Amino acid sequence: MTSPFKSTGQAPDGHTAFFPTTRAAALERLSDFAPLAGRHYAAQRNRDPGPGERDNVSLLSPYIRHRAITEHEVIAKVLAHHSPKAAEKFVQEVFWRTYWKGWLQMRPQVWRSFLDERDIEQARLARDNGLREAVAAAEAGRSGLEGFDHWARELVETGYLHNHARMWFASIWIFTLRLPWTLGADFFMRHLLDADPASNTLGWRWIAGIQTPGKTYQASADNIARFTDNRFRPTGLAPQAPAIRDEAPPPPGALPAPRTLPRDRRVLLLLHGDDFNGHELLPKGTNVAAVAVTPRGHPDMPWPFGPKAATWVDALAKDAVQHAGEALQKPASVLPRPHADALRVQCVAASVTTIATPEAPVGPLADALDTLAHELAEDGIEIIPLRRTWDDLAWPHATHGFFRFKRKIPALLARNGL
Ligand SMILES: Cc1cc2nc3c(=O)[nH]c(=O)nc-3n(C[C@H](O)[C@H](O)[C@H](O)COP(=O)(O)OP(=O)(O)OC[C@H]3O[C@@H](n4cnc5c(N)ncnc54)[C@H](O)[C@@H]3O)c2cc1C
Repeated sequence: MTSPFKSTGQAPDGHTAFFPTTRAAALERLSDFAPLAGRHYAAQRNRDPGPGERDNVSLLSPYIRHRAITEHEVIAKVLAHHSPKAAEKFVQEVFWRTYWKGWLQMRPQVWRSFLDERDIEQARLARDNGLREAVAAAEAGRSGLEGFDHWARELVETGYLHNHARMWFASIWIFTLRLPWTLGADFFMRHLLDADPASNTLGWRWIAGIQTPGKTYQASADNIARFTDNRFRPTGLAPQAPAIRDEAPPPPGALPAPRTLPRDRRVLLLLHGDDFNGHELLPKGTNVAAVAVTPRGHPDMPWPFGPKAATWVDALAKDAVQHAGEALQKPASVLPRPHADALRVQCVAASVTTIATPEAPVGPLADALDTLAHELAEDGIEIIPLRRTWDDLAWPHATHGFFRFKRKIPALLARNGL
C-alpha cells in the first residue's frame, strides 16, 4: 500500500495528492494512523518534519472538518488500539475542535465581527499600497523570513499546514510583519482544506491575544528550529508579542434547542460540506425520497472561500453522493449550489414538503440554510436541521476555557458509548 503520509506524485495537484477525495481514503488513513495515536502522538505531535514526512499527526482534519469521517468514528478507532489514558492527548485534540465549535455556537457575533473586520481591512488594501504589497509578499512566500515563506507556499500548494506551523505563521504575520490578523485568517480560510469558521477564527484570535485575555503566542527561532528538525531558523522575529488589543471575549448566549424530525415525514435529505455523513442522523425508518449533496454555499454566500479548496470539496461531495445513496438505497445527486429553485424542483419531483439536513454550525453554510429556509417557506417547504448527538452533548460545556471543558471529556466519551 502507498503510504498515506507521502504524496503519490501522480495526482494533478498537491491537494488531491496529499488528500485523496474519498471517505475510503480517509478511513484507510485512520486505520494506518490509529496504532500511532497513543504515546507516539503524545511525544511527537509538535514536530513538523515537513510534507510527505509526517507520521506523527493524523492528517485527518480535512476529512473530519467536512465530516467525511466523524469525530466519533475517529476516537472509536483510536480507542480500539489504546487505553483512554494512552490516547488522552489525541482525544483531547479532537475535542479542541468540538470545544471551538461549541464556543462559537454560543457567540455567533464573533464570526460576524471577524467578517466585518476582514472586509474593512480588505477595503484598506485597495487604497494602501504599502499594506497591499506587504500582504501580497507574505501570501506569495516573499517576506524573506525563513520558514514563514515555506509555509505560505506549502499552504497554497497542499491546502494543509501542521498545527505548530499554523501557530508560527500566524504569530509572525501578526507580531513580526505587523499585518492585520483578519487578513491572515482569511488567507488560511481561502487555502486550508479544513478551513473552519470556529477553529480558524478562534485559533487566530488566540494567537493575537483577543481570545484568552492576557495570552498571546510568540514564535521564536529556537522553538522553530527545534520542532522543524532544524529545517528553519528565521532571524528578525519580533522579540515581544503584546496582545493586539485589550478585549474580553463575549459571554456565552443560549444554544438554540435541537430540532427533531416528525416520525411520519417523507423527506428530501440535503447533505452539505459541514456534514457529508448526515444520513446517519435520520431516525430509523425515515421515509427518504431522495438525497441531494451540495458542496457549495448559497449563491449569495460563496463557500468554500478559495477556488482550489472549492474544487477539492466538490470532489468530496461526489464521493458523498455515492456513499449516502448506497447507504440509504435511494437516488442521490450532486446539487452544485443549494439554490432555492433547484431544491423546489427536487421537492416537487419527489412529492415532499420537508427537507431534512444536518445542522450547520455557525458559518457560511448555516447562513445559507437560514436563507433557503426563508425562501422555501413561501412554497410550504420546511427545512429541518438535525444536530448530532456528539455536538448536542458537548457544546453546552463550551461556556468557559478549554481547561474546564476538558474535565467533561471522560463523561462525554461514556455518553457517546466510547
Ligand atoms: C491559527 C490556527 C488556525 C487553525 N485553523 C484550523 C482550521 O481552519 N480547521 C481545523 O480543522 N483546524 C484548524 N486549526 C487547528 C489545527 O492546526 C488543525 O486541526 C490540525 O493541524 C490538523 O492536522 P491533523 O489532522 O494532522 O491534526 P492531529 O494532530 O492529528 O489532530 C487530530 C484532529 O484533532 C483536531 N485538532 C487538532 N488540533 C486542533 C486544534 N488546535 N484546534 C482544533 N482542532 C484540533 C483536528 O480535527 C484534527 O484532525 C488551526 C490552528 C491554528 C493555530
